[in-house]
Amino acid sequence: MKYTLPELTYNYEDLEPYMDAETVKLHHSVHHASYVNNANKLVSDIEEARNSGDFSKIRALSSSLSFNLSGHYLHSLFWRIMGPPSGNSEIDGEIKKQIEVNFGSVDNFFNIFNTLALTVEGSGWAVLTYDPINKDLHVSQIEKHNMLGISNHVPILALDVWEHAYYLKYKSDRKAFIEAFKNLINWEAVEKEYLNIV
Ligand code: MN
Repeated sequence: MKYTLPELTYNYEDLEPYMDAETVKLHHSVHHASYVNNANKLVSDIEEARNSGDFSKIRALSSSLSFNLSGHYLHSLFWRIMGPPSGNSEIDGEIKKQIEVNFGSVDNFFNIFNTLALTVEGSGWAVLTYDPINKDLHVSQIEKHNMLGISNHVPILALDVWEHAYYLKYKSDRKAFIEAFKNLINWEAVEKEYLNIV
């Protein structure tokens, strides 16, 4: 089955003023789309290597698939858990309870999450993840799309801090972008991600 670029459930301009329409458009239709296209190409290249028995490029292909496919899944989550600021509700319900259990308070969670987002070296992400084995929440950095993550941890909230996510509007002020992201989180959507795996 081919990977496909998901449609957004809102318009490119709907995340204004926190995320500008041009950035969202380029981010979705160019950057995310390229990860989807690359992942599909790599899957077919790997299949070709399997059929031909020539495994000389298999390590490079596998590494590139890890990057591009992880990029596709993280971006898909990123779009799913955001929404127009006017329609977003406050954090509540099961996800709020579990955040309080694992981080002490919602404020503590944001302190850790935002600090990790701010200190990603180069391009990467901050993610809130659920560990289905240990049954608890964690926050982590991910470098690029696929480094430093913990293998069985499932991201349920993701913040992209690659420069392509904010540079047009925020220039080098990553901190202001991270603060603004709070206003775009659709907590009902995050809770849905959480309830899907608990
Ligand atoms: Mn991105």
